[in-house]
Amino acid sequence: MQAITVLGSTGSIGVSTLDVIARHPDRYRVYALTAHSRVDELAEQCLRFHPKLAVVGTAQAAQALQQKLKAGQLRTEVLYGAQALCEVAGAAECDTVMAAIVGAAGLASTLAAARAGKKILLANKEALVMSGQLLIDAVAQHKASLLPIDSEHNAIFQCLPHDYRRSLPDAGISKILLTASGGPFLKRDVATLDSVTPEEAVAHPKWVMGRKISVDSATMMNKGLEVIEAHWLFGAPADKIEVMIHPQSVIHSMVSYIDGSVLAQLGNPDMRTPIANALAYPERIESGVAQLDLAQIGQLFFERPDFGRFPCLKLAYDALQAGGSSAAILNAANEVAVQAFLNQEIGFRMIDQVIARVMDKLPHGPVTDIDALIEQDQLARSFAHSCLSL
Ligand code: NAD
Ligand code: MG
Repeated sequence: MQAITVLGSTGSIGVSTLDVIARHPDRYRVYALTAHSRVDELAEQCLRFHPKLAVVGTAQAAQALQQKLKAGQLRTEVLYGAQALCEVAGAAECDTVMAAIVGAAGLASTLAAARAGKKILLANKEALVMSGQLLIDAVAQHKASLLPIDSEHNAIFQCLPHDYRRSLPDAGISKILLTASGGPFLKRDVATLDSVTPEEAVAHPKWVMGRKISVDSATMMNKGLEVIEAHWLFGAPADKIEVMIHPQSVIHSMVSYIDGSVLAQLGNPDMRTPIANALAYPERIESGVAQLDLAQIGQLFFERPDFGRFPCLKLAYDALQAGGSSAAILNAANEVAVQAFLNQEIGFRMIDQVIARVMDKLPHGPVTDIDALIEQDQLARSFAHSCLSL
């Protein structure tokens, strides 16, 4: 029986994770659930999964949750704050941590899970993009494991040899083909992009996701972050990671071998497949996802991305090439710009402009430790805020 902490349990990934867990009560039990502010949803999850601990963002939210749980006669202990997230991620009683908080807010708890040697199911790509080698080293040093939940990276993971050791040449791999849907604006006239609303940007044609990642998909910064994520997960240099637009989201990514073979993982676009794969690895379990009907799909389409339409993708490649704290700066500027767009403070095309300005003006340095990283993140955030009104 695996005891699981779900960080960000009220989010899109968190809910899908609990859906898979609920299908296998003989294999998994929930140790802790965490949410930032959605107390009602978290209370319902607690009543259903009976975790030992629940964590929320503030003392006020904790009090509200405690009252609801008391009414349900539940003995779940309620904690709050960033430190509590690290505690439930690293607790001795927990085996597996689903890291599904969105953005940099998930970094400390993901690192805590690594330092405690946990099996980490990584959805929170921003944590890896920011910390890069620091997280990879912590995983190795503390004998933790890092299993990708992002559908593309989970697909690649499934197409790699079982004993893959973070070297493409050693495994006879020529490149990684990272597929991308292209988001809601793949065919929209670029001249009209500045007038798109947050609601149009988050209306993804194939995936139902949280608002931040949905905007990232519309700008293709999501794919840019995924290129950086693939670099760290698989030890792949930037020039060996090729993005391929595949609007149907049936192939979730591919690995190209030197003998001409290309291995792909296919499936319906539903995150419960990668979640079930990582939860049960190396076994296979049912996820609740319908089997793929290829005859109904008929044809699969591909095209190369256009950096002119999607400048954020180019910015992410540039950050990866530059190395050091560049990716953390890119990520911080993106989080600020996306939030400002969602708050209707800036237009859609300002997102890439804010990031480009921050990347251009802020010097990047080596990422030596977590404190230096957080300092760079904070600096990039305050500079990005000052760029919003330009
Ligand atoms: P979401 O917005 O639906 O959920 C985010 C979760 O994080 C919520 O439970 C929320 O309470 C929690 N949270 C938010 N801010 C927090 C804070 N400051 N402190 C503590 N908790 C906080 O997001 P999502 O779509 O589930 O995405 C989660 C992560 O998974 C992201 O990093 C995203 O890039 C990644 N991911 C998501 C999908 C998807 O299909 N949704 C696919 C691949 C990767
Ligand atoms: Mg993805």
